[in-house]
Amino acid sequence: MENSSSSANSFNDGYTQMENPICRCRKVTTMAKSWTDENPGRKFYKCDTHGFLCWADKEKPFGWQKISLLEARDQIRQQKEQLKELNESLRACNDKDLNGADSGMMNLEMFEKIAEEKRKLEIEAMASKEKEKLLRQFIVISWGGFIVVTAMILTMAKK
Ligand SMILES: [Zn+2]
Repeated sequence: MENSSSSANSFNDGYTQMENPICRCRKVTTMAKSWTDENPGRKFYKCDTHGFLCWADKEKPFGWQKISLLEARDQIRQQKEQLKELNESLRACNDKDLNGADSGMMNLEMFEKIAEEKRKLEIEAMASKEKEKLLRQFIVISWGGFIVVTAMILTMAKK
């Protein structure tokens, strides 16, 4: 038992392309590692087309080794997920920062422009308000004059 497992290990360690079994389609298989619940960490040969051919590790993982392999697998998966989340949030954060800086600069420029426009408009508005006031007074006066003249004509015509 001890001998067979050590010879299996030395077989795996001395693995070369030539030692891989050949699939029924005559392609040389490649070695891969299984991470299923049933066979965590167990090496096997697979064909690119047909998939699983046979186990490279003759013995199934079992006992505490299997459990620790499953735990390691789950831990790695979890860490990968966490890393992915971290990367995503970091990217989102960077995007937000960049956008914030961009819009901040734009806002400042726009604010200055708007402030300038507003100042111009205020000056114009003040000027036009004055003009409007004068114009209104003029209209009132002329309308008043027109009405008075019309009234006078009308009353004169009545007589
Ligand atoms: Zn094949």
